[in-house]
Amino acid sequence: MKRGCENKRLVIKIEQIPTVLLILWLDPTRHEVHFKQKSVNQTVNELISFFSVRQNVVITMHRDPDADALGSSLGWASYLIRKGHAVTVISPNDYAANLAWLPGIEQVLIYEKGSDQLLCKQKIDEASVICCLDFSALSRLKELGKVVQEAKADKLMIDHHLEPEHFAKWMIWDTYAAATAQLIYTLIKEMEPGVPLTELIDQPIAECLYAGIMTDTGSFRHANVTPEVHLAVADLMRTGFDASRVHRLIYDNAPLSRLQFLGYVLSQKLTVIPEFRTAYMVLTEAELIRFNSVPGETEGIVNYGLQVENVVMSALFIERRGEVKISFRSVGSFSVRDLASAHFSGGGHKNASGGRSDQTIKETVDQFLSVLPSYQASLLSVD
Ligand code: 5GP
Ligand code: MN
Repeated sequence: MKRGCENKRLVIKIEQIPTVLLILWLDPTRHEVHFKQKSVNQTVNELISFFSVRQNVVITMHRDPDADALGSSLGWASYLIRKGHAVTVISPNDYAANLAWLPGIEQVLIYEKGSDQLLCKQKIDEASVICCLDFSALSRLKELGKVVQEAKADKLMIDHHLEPEHFAKWMIWDTYAAATAQLIYTLIKEMEPGVPLTELIDQPIAECLYAGIMTDTGSFRHANVTPEVHLAVADLMRTGFDASRVHRLIYDNAPLSRLQFLGYVLSQKLTVIPEFRTAYMVLTEAELIRFNSVPGETEGIVNYGLQVENVVMSALFIERRGEVKISFRSVGSFSVRDLASAHFSGGGHKNASGGRSDQTIKETVDQFLSVLPSYQASLLSVD
């Protein structure tokens, strides 16, 4: 689902940003050492010492959580529970049905649900640490963002999106990582050096982390796939879980209506503008209702635009509950993150980003079409 990340990476404590940035930009080839810099060791050492006594942990993730947000959170939760910590996992809103099989998901509290909200607030109040996984801007939490911001607990950010906000005491932030789940895999290893991996990561943890890495790499085909991704996955697979089953549960597990909806979108709603090498799809609330489409079911549809020859950017506009949610995907050097943040209050990765608008869907699409000429040169220059 996610396409390649920028080739920048770092894992840092806030105070050390200038030094680390310098190291990174001076030596852009040192992928393999991104988790080994002194500042990283310091952060990890602090975490080792922090987690050496029992902690009250809250783990949270971005709204509309995908398999990486949920998989990394549940994998980290499971590891911490095994280490004797009290752990609560909170999602800002509900998750898609094809993720309901993830091991441990029954423990997830949904902040948006009236029946869970009080307990969420209580757990956040009692927490000694709030782990913020797979997002780096508190606005990605919806209403929960304010609660997390005001909480007295220390925050630990573990994320791979571009341009993080600096709200966390500890940051394990690495845009070179294909998925937050990959960062969790590395962090767990770093927390207990020398311990055999099979003693740290069991099958349920491995399934959760594999699900995150698999989906964020588009099943290992996007530009964010690195040797480290395959090495991590090889380690995870050694626990013996059924990787093919994970793929099936996520991708080949849709109600018939979703495939029929996809057929409708591809045959009736996909527009290609060759002069801008752009494909886009617009889905109104009425169409979603007609096809009984629930949140999560539109996930991945935007990628189809990129299957059209010569297209380098695909956009999907979805009208839902009075706002327009936009998904962008691109290939090569064209940054949809820049476009999303410049015009649609959004962000994400270079090749996979999203944004929102509270204008009407027609006004939003018109705005998109009106800015395309200013991106024409970059769109045409992609190899
Ligand atoms: P998706 O299209 O799958 O919803 O999102 C693609 C990527 O863009 C994800 O990495 C996601 O974190 C990011 N993204 C999606 N919506 C937003 C948004 O409204 N704001 C920001 N900053 N990032 C977003
Ligand atoms: Mn992710």
